[in-house]
Formats: sequence, structure tokens, C-alpha cells
Amino acid sequence: MDLEPEFDGPEFDGIVIGAGVGGIYQIKRLTDLGMHALLIEADEDLGGTWFRNRYPGARFDSESYTYGYSFSRELLDEWSWSERFSGQPENLRYLNFVADKFDLRQHMRFNSRVASMVFDEDGSFWTITLTDGTALTTRFVVCGLGLLSMPTPPRYEGTETFEGDSWHTYHWPTDPVDLSDKRVGVIGTGATGIQVIADIAAEVGHLTVFQRRPNWSAPLNNAPISEAEMNDIRSRYTEIYETCARTPGGFEHEPDRRGFWKVSPEERKALWDDLYDQPGFGIWLRNFAEIFTEEEANAEFSEYIAERIRQRVDDPAVAAKLIPVDHGFGMQRVPLETNYFEAYNRPNVELVDISETPIERITPAGVRTTAQDYDLDLIVYATGFDAITGAYDRIDIRGVDGVSLRDKWASGPVTYLGLFVHGFPNMFMIAGPQGASASSNFPRSIEQAVNWLSTLVQHVLDGGASRVEADADVEAQWTAHVTEMYSRFLIGRGKGWITGYNSNVEGREEGVIRYGVYNGGAPRYHARLATIADEGYPGISIR
Ligand code: NAP
Repeated sequence: MDLEPEFDGPEFDGIVIGAGVGGIYQIKRLTDLGMHALLIEADEDLGGTWFRNRYPGARFDSESYTYGYSFSRELLDEWSWSERFSGQPENLRYLNFVADKFDLRQHMRFNSRVASMVFDEDGSFWTITLTDGTALTTRFVVCGLGLLSMPTPPRYEGTETFEGDSWHTYHWPTDPVDLSDKRVGVIGTGATGIQVIADIAAEVGHLTVFQRRPNWSAPLNNAPISEAEMNDIRSRYTEIYETCARTPGGFEHEPDRRGFWKVSPEERKALWDDLYDQPGFGIWLRNFAEIFTEEEANAEFSEYIAERIRQRVDDPAVAAKLIPVDHGFGMQRVPLETNYFEAYNRPNVELVDISETPIERITPAGVRTTAQDYDLDLIVYATGFDAITGAYDRIDIRGVDGVSLRDKWASGPVTYLGLFVHGFPNMFMIAGPQGASASSNFPRSIEQAVNWLSTLVQHVLDGGASRVEADADVEAQWTAHVTEMYSRFLIGRGKGWITGYNSNVEGREEGVIRYGVYNGGAPRYHARLATIADEGYPGISIR
């Protein structure tokens, strides 16, 4: 006799995984649809990126008022940003404000790390099992796992023997850390390392920066936002978001369309002189489109930035080490900085070029390179992330016929629109691999993806269906399109997380490109989403 109680459907209509910018909005939309939905989050509170990255200097490099959600006029009216590029504490406060305003915490369960997800073919639902053994069943699952949420400390020998403090920037402690008089070592000079180094240089006793490769970087040009300015921004929100929707990067920055070769070198320099003092990504995104695609144009602009670095760094030998030689400006994601280069003019800051004298090991006292020992009290690993697919790989996700997502993505992600994976029905991704988020102002694309998916879910339910899945052919076409876009832009040749390089993860060597980012521009991407919805979701099987 079968003693199992009769299964009368999954417990939840929808489960969202991850309480970051995407997950917070997604749980709102699902519950607004009247769905019985739950958000689960591994951390002890909401905020995702802004809950975790508490390192000194962590802040937006999107203009704050273009980063916030646009979906509620009331929210736009009630929230004031204090800085053009607001810092982590304020960003986290903002996300809490949103969750509280829309009473979303009631739908959230924290300290809930997902171990596995298994699709039930007969019942068209997912069983999500947490690391504590709790099993939850749901019709739909939306993954808001984050693209940069799986930190990768280096694989140096001896890290566990270090007798001082050490942590990855993603795990910077919640309690204040007193850095005064401390001998601090920072390993890594990506966007994170650059923010930390610039921020703590004046505070620490001594700072040793271990740089493997320098990055191109330019001023953030941050400033406070006065009440009058905030009121002005508020009055222009519609226009601001319209601009963000039509620019490739989802910012207010529109490319200069005069044509690089059509203007004189003097006019080009005049533009760059102006942009260097402008806020945010203007220096990159208000530039000539040719710097993204043509080596010669890129080289001329890179030399302009190199000269700026030479002007800012007192010691020419140090300046030379801070100027990238293996890639041009924007061929990797550009970090923005505040007094980063000036930090190297301080007597308490030392730059160690570990491409010349590699780190051999971490010792109980600090870092040993092939040249010498550096005694330290704190080692900060600003060594990046197992980006894009790392958070997915850490969950045992099994689709139709028990196929593992990790196996399917072994050589890189394969998706339809970055939102679906064939063979994994009823599973959606926001800010997923091969979506538009990673190459644009994150929340702008996230909001669009959430809106689009929520409309799709409504459509599925209205039709009395219970299963939705992208077809294999459209998935193959999308992945081929994403791959093709890499060849059109110089950024497709860079050596960083956008091309899948990470020396701290086995198998992520240089030259083994993982096509995880859609580089075709947010407007083109969103136009495609709109067309697909208008045409009744071709390529997506709903039954
Ligand atoms: P990242 O860009 O991957 O940079 C990691 C750095 O660590 C690189 O300099 C890398 O050197 C170095 N590194 C890695 N492993 C190392 C090892 N074993 N030994 C020595 N050096 C090592 O990571 P990230 O700086 O955390 O930034 C990741 C992304 O997060 C950014 O590109 C950006 O999209 C986002 N982010 C945004 C903001 C913001 O302002 N909103 C701030 C921070 C980060 P190599 O270059 O030689 O590999």
C-alpha cells in the first residue's frame, strides 16, 4: 500500500533565490501577481552585493540616481541620494528602505543557502533543498544569484599559516576595523583593489600593494548632491530613465558620434580633457565609438590616459608600472578611482610588481615574493570572483532527465537571452550569464528582465499552463550571437572576468574564453525582449 500523501502541487508558486537588487524587485512583482512566493537568501540579511562588499571605498560607479529602481514614482519621490556615487552603507540602507516600504521582508527567508535544485518532470515543479536539509517545492524558480558573488581568494600556499588577519574584500568584517598603524598588504588591483587602496592609503601605517597587472583607471569625480540638486534630479527622472534606456550602457552617457577619424587630433584631445573631469563612466562611454572597436583609435586614447597617469604619479618608475602594457583602455572593465594614483606618492605606500617578482607563498608573518619577505598585520585579498557562472556552479542544479547545469556549462554558459536554459524548465535567471546586465548599468537591465519575466509568468498562468522552457534551437542561436559579439569589440580580447579568465579557478586560463556577457548593448537586447513578447513568445514552449 502506498502511504505517501497524495501530491497536490508544489508548496510555492514561485521561489526567488538571492536578495540582491534583482531578487528584491522580483519578489515584489511575483507577490503583486498574487502568487504564493518566497525569497530565499544565503546571507543573514538582504542586499546582495551591497550587503557583502563592506570594504573601505566600496561605492557605486553608476550615478546613484540611475542605479535606483525606477518602478515606483513614490519611491523616487521619497528617497534622496547624498552623493553622486553613493557609498556601500547608503546603498544598503536604500535597499532596506525599498524592502520595508513595500513590506517585502515578510516574503524573505535568510540564512538559507541552496544546496540543490531538482526538476520534477511529471509534476513540472522544482524541489529546492537547502544546506540544512529543508526541502521546498515550487512551480517556478527565479535565480538572482549575482554575477560577482562567488569570491576567489588566491591559491597561494601558506594562506592558512598567516598569523595576522586576512580576508577577501567580499568578506570584509561588519564591525569597524582599525587600520591605523597597521601594516596592510592588498593583493589585486581590479575595481575593488583600486577602491580599497585609494581609500585606506592615508589611514594605514604602511600599505604594500601587490600588483600582478595594472588596470586602466580614470577619475570617478564624485561629489555630494545638495537638496536643490536632488529636487532637480527628481523633476527629471522620466527624462533620465529614458536616456538610460537608449544608451548602450544604460547610463546617461551617450557616445560621441562625430567619428574618431573625422575630427582632428586636437579636437579628440579637447574631448578627452573635458571627459577626464566629468563624473563616472563618461570617460569611457561618452567617448568615440571607435575606441571600443579599433586598435589604432584605442591605442591613441590609451596613450592619452597613460600620460595622465604619468602626470599624477611623482616617481616615473612607479608610474610606468601603473600603466597597462598588455591591453588598451576599456579592453577590461574600467575601474573608476578617487586619488588612486596619488596614493603612490605617499611615503607609506609601496607598489610591488609581482609580475617581476611573483608571490611564492604566504608565510606566518606576511607575503614572500621571489625577491623578499613583507611582514604584514593584515592581508586583503582583492582577487576577484568566479564570475558569472560561479554561483550557479556551487548549486547542484538538475533539469530534465537529471542533466546537471554545471556539466552543461562546463565550457561556458549556454542560455537563451540570459534568462532561460533549455532542459531546465520553469527556471529563470535575472542578471544571468549572457544577459545584458553585466555590460550595462546593472539595475537598469535587471528591472527590465524582472518586468519581462513577470509578464511571461502571468501569461503562462493565464493560459492555464504549468511549464515554460526555451527551445534548443533559439538557445543555440542566442549563444552564437553572444559569441559573435565578443569578436566585434576589443573587450572580447581582454584578460579578465568578462572573458572568463581567473587564475584562482582551475581551468580558467587565458585564451579559454567563456562567453558570459552580452556585449550587443542594452537597447538592442531590450528591443528583442519586447518583440518576443509582442509575437507571443516564439522559441519558448509553454504547456
Ligand atoms: P577583478 O577585476 O577580477 O580583479 C582582481 C584583481 O586581483 C586583478 O588585479 C588580478 O590580477 C588580481 N589577482 C587575482 N588573483 C590573483 C592572484 N592569485 N595573485 C595576484 N593577483 C591576483 O575583481 P574585482 O576588482 O573584485 O572586480 C570585479 C568586478 O566587480 C569589476 O570589474 C566590476 O564589474 C565589479 N566592481 C564594481 C565596483 C563599483 O564601483 N561599483 C567596485 C568593485 C567591483 P590580474 O589582472 O593579473 O588577473
